[in-house]
Amino acid sequence: MAVSEHVDFNQFMEGVKRRNPYQTEFVQAVQEVAEDIFDFIQDKEEYHAQQILRRMTEPDRVVSFRVCWEDDDGDIRVQRGWRVQNNNAIGPYKGGIRFHPSVNESVLKFLAFEQTFKNALTGLPLGGGKGGSNFNPKGKSVREIMRFCQSFMTELYRHIGADVDVPAGDIGVGGREIGYMFGQYKRITNQFTGVLTGKGLEWGGSLIRTEETGYGAVYFLASMLATRGEDLTGKTAVISGSGNVATHAAEKIVQLGGKVLTLSDSGGFIHDPDGINQEKIDWVKTHKTHRRGRIEEYVDAFPGATFTAGKTPWGVPCDVALPCATQNELLGDDARVLVANGCKAVSEGANMPTDLAGVHVFKNAKILFAPGKAANAGGVAVSGLEMSQNSGRRSWKEDELQQMLKDIMADIHKSCLKYGDQGGGYVDYVKGANIAGFKKVADAMLAFGVV
Ligand code: NDP
Repeated sequence: MAVSEHVDFNQFMEGVKRRNPYQTEFVQAVQEVAEDIFDFIQDKEEYHAQQILRRMTEPDRVVSFRVCWEDDDGDIRVQRGWRVQNNNAIGPYKGGIRFHPSVNESVLKFLAFEQTFKNALTGLPLGGGKGGSNFNPKGKSVREIMRFCQSFMTELYRHIGADVDVPAGDIGVGGREIGYMFGQYKRITNQFTGVLTGKGLEWGGSLIRTEETGYGAVYFLASMLATRGEDLTGKTAVISGSGNVATHAAEKIVQLGGKVLTLSDSGGFIHDPDGINQEKIDWVKTHKTHRRGRIEEYVDAFPGATFTAGKTPWGVPCDVALPCATQNELLGDDARVLVANGCKAVSEGANMPTDLAGVHVFKNAKILFAPGKAANAGGVAVSGLEMSQNSGRRSWKEDELQQMLKDIMADIHKSCLKYGDQGGGYVDYVKGANIAGFKKVADAMLAFGVV
């Protein structure tokens, strides 16, 4: 029974909602993709007959488990852990691990779904997955974090493997946490394999992994501006977040001649009209990562700046915007304010930071808008290159990696143009990324038959 003859878009989405009650983030991510894919597959009977879109919206499996650990007071704490293995049609599952109190099954299913398309766009043989826990690393001692990571891996290890599923970091999981988890994996299995990426350079990690998600989002932004004969020189940028992605995006904007006006965290945003230069970015990196401080303390160190509590930075007029904190941090009204203030381009460093209403505002205004699955693919691309280096038991030099990454980001931009060019000088990058990612995974699924 062909879907085209019997199910329209609204019926399809009703089914997704019915099967995934209360999973609002997952339903949102599916809707954003399905809005573009429905048009694309209208005349492609094989995708309908094989129910490809319907199959893609059902993860291969979702593993949920208990994580017990002992805090410094000797109290027993119980957290929930997950690994969502979404789709391995084109390679082993691949996607980060997030530790944040907001983590639940819906958030991880949306992230794993998005990751599947993003990984396909990189051109590397990577399937899509995501994992994490509702563990809150904030305020925990280093030893508590180590004990938690070890307990988490004590269950996770049986579900992953270098050719099965290769996790990396995400919010709340950086090099230190990857180290604790890799150490525990190695201890349990007695194997030194590329089972995690984002590893330290001394033990199988790759050069440029840490910086490339943020850098890549700026490279993608520069490619979009170039289609309109512009670059970043002299442009003002508003950035949210102050973690790995945000600080590296800020760094690259500064390197390419732009001026960064804002950074933020879950407490609010700082606005520095003098510009957040490299010295200030270095201060933020040390302050947030090593001192575990809050962004509001920036104004004590740099008195020209102001801090606004409990708000996002989208009201600050700018030429370009980079949401680099978390999902649904840029809403429809924020998008309207950005457009009204003359913002020309938005590049998503975070995953699904713009809600559906915001996406529609940017599309209708026809500004340059890069969805996270295209713009932030630089991180997972270098992770893919880390896996190749681990399999080949070798390390590539920085300039080799930079060149490979530049080629990958340029190819992603090209794929978006191929499927997103709407004529009249407007490229719908969301549509381009969705269709290019879908087609690659869908064609692999067709080859496998009904599995
Ligand atoms: P980090 O943990 O390094 O930083 C996260 C930043 O976002 C912090 O400033 C944090 O503030 C802020 N933040 C987190 N949750 C919220 C919230 N609910 N409201 C407001 N601010 C919040 O994470 P990353 O920089 O690695 O990740 C940021 C985004 O980029 C995520 O969407 C992630 O999925 C995506 N991404 C990351 C990749 C990577 O390589 N790291 C790859 C591709 C995408 P606070 O300190 O207050 O929590």
